[in-house]
This record gives sequence, structure tokens and C-alpha cells, in this order.
Amino acid sequence: PETITVQELANRMSERAVDVVRLLMKQGVMKKINELIDADTAQLVAEELGHTVRRVAESDVEEGLFDAPDASEVLTTRPPVVTIMGHVDHGKTSLLDAIRHTTVVKGEAGGITQHIGAYQVTTPLGGKVTFIDTPGHAAFTAMRQRGARSTDIVVLVVAADDGVMPQTAEAINHARAAGVPIIVAINKIDKPDAKPERVRSELLQYEIQVESLGGETLEVEVSAKERLNLDKLLELIQLQAELLDLKANPDRPAEGVVIEAKLDRGRGPVATVLVQRGTLRQGDVIVAGAEWGRVRALVDDKGKAVSEAPPSMPVEILGFNGAPEAGDRLAVVENEARAREVAEYRQRQKREQAAARATVRVSGLEEMMS
Ligand code: GDP
Ligand code: MG
Repeated sequence: PETITVQELANRMSERAVDVVRLLMKQGVMKKINELIDADTAQLVAEELGHTVRRVAESDVEEGLFDAPDASEVLTTRPPVVTIMGHVDHGKTSLLDAIRHTTVVKGEAGGITQHIGAYQVTTPLGGKVTFIDTPGHAAFTAMRQRGARSTDIVVLVVAADDGVMPQTAEAINHARAAGVPIIVAINKIDKPDAKPERVRSELLQYEIQVESLGGETLEVEVSAKERLNLDKLLELIQLQAELLDLKANPDRPAEGVVIEAKLDRGRGPVATVLVQRGTLRQGDVIVAGAEWGRVRALVDDKGKAVSEAPPSMPVEILGFNGAPEAGDRLAVVENEARAREVAEYRQRQKREQAAARATVRVSGLEEMMS
């Protein structure tokens, strides 16, 4: 049911909350400032105070933000988006760094990359692969909880000297729950005590059967430290991507997901977004979560300004009025009025949810003390 706190209702009418409480009391409704009242009661109160009421349903505000799927004729192949997961210290960061460094050294312009939360490389076969550079299950889960599917392929890193550990199992479960295929990267193969065979058999307990044991899961032995078999890993990712037949329509207003966002001292709110369909351009009016803005500049993972970002490309966006949250979905809208409407609606919702949570906490406390 639709509800609103007394405070929020008062705010929207520019009335004092105590006056609203008093009016409610006169009508026999005893409510405190942080408590929720239903929409009908709120309407009565507002009309009593001489306000005109326009009830806006969520369906009206959010309508059309994320359009229906694109027709298959307009779809073109897009690069895969990869997240590296695995137990702590098994080499996720090392592998991400090694892949980035290797591909940069092999002739990409711009030299050293900067950290924006995701990066894209060109593989030896000439295709592109996007890596989410905030490894860890937290980021993956946060995005999934917001309904954003941000990853096409999980690379599961297992250290050959350590084997399958609790967070390895956790990662397997996350990937499964999200329906994302796994490629197994057995890392630290350079170590004298590496036992890749043991890793393969341990994975069987989690119903992961790698190719060399007759199964279907792609696998590769790597060393992030010695940079062994990184090309092979990239090839497997491309192979898996071909099997998945990943496509998107580049010719439409952009949609995407926020990977990271922060308030930068010099540049203001900065968000790294992964474009998922459409093409994001300078000047686009955008909304993500409860924040909106106009794209002032787009910066790629090499720190270079770009004018547009096609599907699967990660870019930093300058121009938000506030920093959105990781996992927020981004949409391009027609104009600033529309963006403001959506953002303000969501800000109100956030405030109300926070107030409702606070009320629950307070009443819980009162019960404990009585
Ligand atoms: P993360 O916690 O999964 O991100 O793991 P890190 O990338 O931080 O690596 C943990 C430790 O393992 C570090 O000391 C790395 O230098 C080391 N390490 C990572 N990959 C390799 C590898 O391929 N071989 C060896 N010998 N050590 C590695
Ligand atoms: Mg790490």
C-alpha cells in the first residue's frame, strides 16, 4: 500500500509537521512525525490544508525508463563483461593487473592505465574484453541485488597451492545464482608446491567438471606472477563469449550500470558506468538511482576524453549533480525536467524508507524499555 511519513507530507506541502500531527489528531488519528500514514489519509489532510493533491504512482514516474527489449535485427555483437572471483590471496588483483599490463605493453596507446573500476583490453585474436576491476563478491552481489546484470562471464581464480577454499565455493554459488558461466583459472602454477590436479578434483565436489576431466567448463593454468598463459585465458573468454552470442543495440539512448562512484575534490561527482545497450554521448541527460545530470565529459580507462561509449564500454562520467551508488542503473532521458522528476521521486522514496526504518528501530527500542 502507498504510504508517506507525516514529516515528508508536511515537507511537500511546506507546512509544519506539528500542524499535520494536530490535524490528524483532530480526525482521531494518532501519529508521530516519523510514522507512516496511508495515501488516502494523506490526501484528506492535504485537502483540509487547502492543497491540491496529485497522486503519482511509481509506474508513472518510472514508466519507459528501461524500454522493452530491442528487435533482433538491430542487435550487433558486443564484447563480454568479465568479473574475476575467488578466495582471498588466490591472485585476483594480480591477474587483473597482469592482464591489463600485458595488453597495454602490446601496443595500446596511452600507456599506463588509471583505475576507474573497470577496463577494456584487446585480445590477441583482435576482440575486446571488459574486466570489472573491483573484484570481490560484494560488488557483484550489490549489483545483482539492484537487478543489474553486470557480468557475462566469471573467471574463477583458484590458487594451485591452496586449492578450493570457502570463498571459492561462495563465488561458485554467486555465479550459479546469477546464471553466469564460469571459466576456471588455476593460478600460481609457477609455485613448486602447485597441485593443479588436486584443484580439478576438488571442483568436482561443487559440480564443476573441467574439460580435461571430460566436462564442459573451460579451464586454464596460469601464473599472474610469471604472466603465463594470459593469452590463453583471453582466448577462452572470447570463445565463451561466442558461445553466449552476446549482442546489444548500439543505436538507441544508452542504458547501463554504475560500477563505482565518488565525489572527486576537483571534478565533482564522478561515476564509472558500464554501458549495456545504446551509445552514451556527451550532452546526454542521465539519471542513475536518485541522481541526475548532463554528461559534461566522458573519460575512458586510459584517462582519455572520448565523445561516446558503445555497449560493454566502461567510462567515467562527469556531470552528475551528486554521486549515485554502485549498482544503480543508468538511463538516458529526453530532457532535464524528466531527469529531475525521476531523481526527486527516488530521493523522496529513499527518505521515506529511511524514516520508516528509523521508526521501526525507535518503536523496537520503546518495547525493550517498557
Ligand atoms: P587477491 O586477494 O585474490 O586479490 O590476491 P592478490 O593478487 O593480492 O595476490 C595474493 C598474493 O599472491 C600476493 O602476494 C601475490 O604476489 C601472490 N600471487 C598472485 N599470483 C601469483 C602467481 O601466479 N604466482 C605466485 N607465486 N604468487 C602469486
Ligand atoms: Mg585483491
